[in-house]
Order: sequence, then C-alpha cells, then structure tokens
Amino acid sequence: MHPLISLRNITKNYRDMRALNGVNLDISSGITGLLGPNGAGKSTLIKVVLGLVRVTSGSGVILGHRLGRDGRAIRNRIGFMPEDDCYIPGLTGIEVVQFAAALSGLPLVEGLRRSHEILDFCGMKQERYRQIDTYSTGMRQKIKFAAAIVHDPDFLIFDEPTSGLDPEERENLLNRIRILADDSNKSVLISTHILPDVQAICDHAVILSHGQVVLNEDLSALNRPTSPTISLRIQGHEDQFIRSLGRAGLTAEQSADLTWQISGVSSAMAQRLWLSARETNTTILSMQPARNDLESIFIQAVKESENANS
Ligand code: ADP
Repeated sequence: MHPLISLRNITKNYRDMRALNGVNLDISSGITGLLGPNGAGKSTLIKVVLGLVRVTSGSGVILGHRLGRDGRAIRNRIGFMPEDDCYIPGLTGIEVVQFAAALSGLPLVEGLRRSHEILDFCGMKQERYRQIDTYSTGMRQKIKFAAAIVHDPDFLIFDEPTSGLDPEERENLLNRIRILADDSNKSVLISTHILPDVQAICDHAVILSHGQVVLNEDLSALNRPTSPTISLRIQGHEDQFIRSLGRAGLTAEQSADLTWQISGVSSAMAQRLWLSARETNTTILSMQPARNDLESIFIQAVKESENANS
C-alpha cells in the first residue's frame, strides 16, 4: 500500500540537542499509535509532519506534498488535536469550533453547519452555547477534537487525546476515532503513553526512543506470540505441575497476574498439559492462547535502544 507519510533519514537538532536521529518511517492508512517515553521525540516528529519545524536533514513526502515545501497545503489536509488547551477565553464551545472552521477557510454558513454536525457527533448538547472556561476536562477535549476535524481533513493527528478523561469519556472518544477511521476512511496518528489505548484501537504501532524508530509493526503481528504459547490459570500443586511440564520439555513463566505462560506447546504437546495436571493433582481453571502484551514489547524496545545509546 502506498504510504501517506514517508520520512527518510530525518534528523532534527535544537542547537546541540538531537531530538530526531535518522528517522525512517512510512505511515499508511488506518490508525497508527505513536509511543515513546518522555523526550523520545514524538512532539518533534508531529511538528515535522505538520511542517511547523524545519528539519536539520532528511526528506519526506506528506500526503503527496514534499516536506518543507508545501506547509500550508499539508496543514489543510491534516486535522491536529494538540495535547494542551488552545482556545480563546470568553468564547462558547460552538464559537471555538466555528472559529477553527473559519481559519481553515470554510465559508461562514458552511462552517456553522459543519460545527454543529461535528458537535452532535461528539455528543455535545446545549453545553455548546456555554463559555468554554466553564467546561470540564472531558468537554474541553470534545471541543478540541471537534475543532481538529471540522474542516474534514484526510489525516488526523491526536496528541494524548485521552489524557485527563474518565473511563467512559475515554471509551467514547476512542470509539469516535474508530468510527472516523472505519466509516469516513480517515487515517489517524495518535501520540500517547497510554498503551491500552493503542491496544484498543490501533492497527499499527510505532515506538520512538532517543529520536529513533525502534519498532514499527502491525498490532496483529505484535499480538501474535513468536512461539506457540498457552496461557494457563491453575490451582493445586503448581510447583509439581510446572516441574512435570519441564521434564516434558515445556517452559513455563509466571506473569504478574499469576497466570502461567507455557511456551513451545504444539498440538501433540497440548495433551501433556492435561496429563501433568492429572499426575500432580492440579486443576486447570482456564487455558487460552497467549498474546504478547504491548507493555513488555514497549519496555523491551526502549531498553534495547537505551543500551545501544549508552
Ligand atoms: P516527546 O514529545 O517524546 O516528549 P519532544 O519531541 O518534545 O519529545 O522532545 C525531544 C527532545 O527535544 C527532548 O530532549 C526535548 O527536551 C528537546 N526539545 C524539544 N523541543 C525543543 C526546543 N524547542 N528547544 C530545545 N529542545 C527541545
């Protein structure tokens, strides 16, 4: 698939601080999660894509436009929801969204129509006519979200979109992003440090560390264990059961949630689990194929990059 964003060997220095260090990255359609510890270079990468900072070296193509050339044309096709609040105090919610529509060049009446349509989509009711200074965090997030998408851009960038939201608001916002991707064919980049958000809605994950891309994978590939692994919850003589599996050549590791991850289980070996349980008088409470968890993948990728950079 033709990438929408293609960055080649991008380096960005702020004086003697290297924020991006030879970034090569292709972003295709779907929802991409951009992960990385603080200071990894995520915001700088977003600013590069938006054409808001000049790269020190490297090249790129953003939605068909050459990086560094057509900043305005690129920004017209991208909707950006920043992490920080950015509104003019004293305006009502609808006025903020309408203002964003006007800034993107929508005619007045069309801008007002779109603003109401988007606020309806965001579940905003009469509160849209109240001053934004009186809003809760969740309501302000909705306004920022609406302002980012009011001009119907093709590509959406959300910076920490769920920070400060309660669980219900978070789920609603993630659902709206998924609807935009699935029903309106928008492509999305979400910068976040909330791994469950990535797990919940992203199709791809990119991990940035020390200004470098250390992982760029489809979630479906990440969720697949490298060797067939079974996740077990057991009760009874756990030590004897695990030793019995060991004698049969199966390795077991206990996770933080106390489930056992048994690797190397082929269909022929699956029988062994039941035999060992019977021999050691242990009950298997549940058995399911294990998934790699994103948190361990993240920790491992960042640790490797730290070792390489130390
Ligand atoms: P992240 O968004 O992943 O936290 P940033 O892109 O904000 O990372 O920052 C990457 C590095 O660049 C950090 O070390 C940060 O201190 C530095 N940096 C970011 N912006 C500037 C700036 N305007 N001037 C100097 N250093 C900066």
